[in-house]
Amino acid sequence: MKDKDTLLQNAGINTRLSHIGNSPSDFHGFVNPPVVHASTVLFPNARTMETRDQKYTYGTRGTPTTDALCDAIDALEGSAGTILVPSGLAAITVPFLAFLSAGDHALIVDSVYGPTRIFCDTMLQRLGVEIEYYDPLVGAGIEQLIKPNTRLVHTEAPGSNTFEMQDISAISTVAHRHGCVVTMDNTWATPIYFKPLDHGVDISIHAATKYPAGHSDILMGTVSANAAHWDQLREANIQLGICGAPDDAYQVLRGLRTMGVRLERHQESTLAIAQWLEGREDVARVLHPALPSFPSHELWKRDFKGSSGIFSFVLAVSSPEKFKAKAHAFLDALRIFGLGYSWGGYESLAVHVYLGDRRISKAPTEGPVLRLQIGLEDVADIKADIEKGLAAAKEA
Ligand SMILES: *Cc1c(COP(=O)(O)O)cnc(C)c1O
Repeated sequence: MKDKDTLLQNAGINTRLSHIGNSPSDFHGFVNPPVVHASTVLFPNARTMETRDQKYTYGTRGTPTTDALCDAIDALEGSAGTILVPSGLAAITVPFLAFLSAGDHALIVDSVYGPTRIFCDTMLQRLGVEIEYYDPLVGAGIEQLIKPNTRLVHTEAPGSNTFEMQDISAISTVAHRHGCVVTMDNTWATPIYFKPLDHGVDISIHAATKYPAGHSDILMGTVSANAAHWDQLREANIQLGICGAPDDAYQVLRGLRTMGVRLERHQESTLAIAQWLEGREDVARVLHPALPSFPSHELWKRDFKGSSGIFSFVLAVSSPEKFKAKAHAFLDALRIFGLGYSWGGYESLAVHVYLGDRRISKAPTEGPVLRLQIGLEDVADIKADIEKGLAAAKEA
């Protein structure tokens, strides 16, 4: 086991993904951990029961299956501990509830995942937390927004739907100077392409629903903390009783084994399609941080090791009253792309993005924003499908 840890520390990412979070010798040599279903765990005697002096004590507090996934995520994140929760959204709400109290002020990036904004504007406001949205491009300028009661700074890079990058290191440095916790929704990059804790983030959040699960059939979230924040995160998780299920944990661990090779393919196909769209007259702009034309591209280049399979483009439409009709014509002509939410699975998906709730990073004015998740299909087929959509939009 010791040997394995040292070996894996210096190994490439696909080697690590193939061997983290399993210990066959603990389970009679079977390669994968068993799926342990549990509420009750028995104790050998009253004294052990009283002191809870054994590794497992109750189903909500972890099983060998959920531990295997948590160990794998810790290895990828470089974190002190990871909790599993039943969705990516819960991976945001649980740490917010863990670190925020009535009277606190929280700074939330304006390009945040939509349901995070809804949670902040409803439940957090009701619980007496003051919410303020900030420009994703603020960088060290976040200092001007920090108040004496600012407790948490939430980041997400690239931003949902519009993909603005953030200077995570600069924001973390300033936030820590003022005693704030820094959280980051890192779902887009996965820990393969960006490791938040290495850039000063305290709490790294993932919708494991996306690339880790990878097959559009599992909901799960992971929250990983550095040593200074692990106890408080774990305590809150136990107080709330929000835990990930062992069957889902097993499937996410299975998904991790192929995540590296899947991401390579998503990255390559997505870049090919984004570049191709950029050269078309019917496309006003492509919102993909790995394109040199993208305004915050330099931050992506400085900090990220790769790019994944989701981006948006702005269809060139001259009159705003036609935005919706053109967007719908595009979507309705697609045959390979499915119309559906979420992403990170093997199949291509498209959606007309809603940006009406933005306060600072407003919607582009040149046309409707269409978000594409590029799946594992062949690029030629995906392009042909997009051609159909663009032709239909032109007619509409
Ligand atoms: C999808 C998504 C989530 C939420 O994940 P669910 O498992 O669907 O709840 C959180 N953050 C980002 C950036 C996402 O894209």
